Amino acid sequence: MTTHQEGPSVAEQLAVVRRSIAEAAAAAGRTEPVHLVAVTKTFDADHVRPALVAGQRVVGENRVQEAKAKWPGLKAEFPDIELHLLGPLQSNKAKDAVALFDVIESLDREKIAEAIAKAGEALGRLPKVMVQVNIGREPQKAGVAPEDAASLVARCRALGLDVIALMAIPPADAPPAPYFDALARLAADCGVADTSMGMSGDYEIAIAHGARWVRVGSAIFGSRPSIAAQ
Ligand SMILES: *Cc1c(COP(=O)(O)O)cnc(C)c1O
Repeated sequence: MTTHQEGPSVAEQLAVVRRSIAEAAAAAGRTEPVHLVAVTKTFDADHVRPALVAGQRVVGENRVQEAKAKWPGLKAEFPDIELHLLGPLQSNKAKDAVALFDVIESLDREKIAEAIAKAGEALGRLPKVMVQVNIGREPQKAGVAPEDAASLVARCRALGLDVIALMAIPPADAPPAPYFDALARLAADCGVADTSMGMSGDYEIAIAHGARWVRVGSAIFGSRPSIAAQ
């Protein structure tokens, strides 16, 4: 519940982000669209709704449980929502994730690929996937090691999964451009057409380095409690 809102509204901040995306895409000479994933984790339906009313349809969540509580209701109001899973997926949640999400961006191991494929068969609906790469080789971060990305992509394809991009979160404490470049090169090497990279702090840079999807939360919806900010 938002009371005594100060500063720009969600709709205004969304408009600012959209404009910046368009400007960064034009500056980079991009001709095909750059897609905005509005990251709604930790924000309730009432806080998120103005972005949907303003026409935003691609949205991202980190947790299956939180998304299950929030999105069926919002999807009833806005049926053409495209929901992305951004956070780590356990195999025992695969069926719930496949039932709810349209794109799973956080596929980072064979076991999850198998669980998604199996749930897809059982449910007769198969989300598209992105393979998450630990592009900065950080021990605490999710993602397949860069040198193992190609074989995981091949395994996904053998299972019938549509791998539409590589996804990564570069190290927080370093300039992101070299990591964005590395992910774009790795995607090309793996025969994957696109990348999902760039968040509130660096999405314009990611676009300059070829991002097809940028995932932006706090620049639209405001800051989150630090426990959920990861
Ligand atoms: C939270 C999150 C984002 C959005 O982060 P902001 O800095 O709020 O834009 C993007 N991608 C992933 C994987 C996230 O977990």
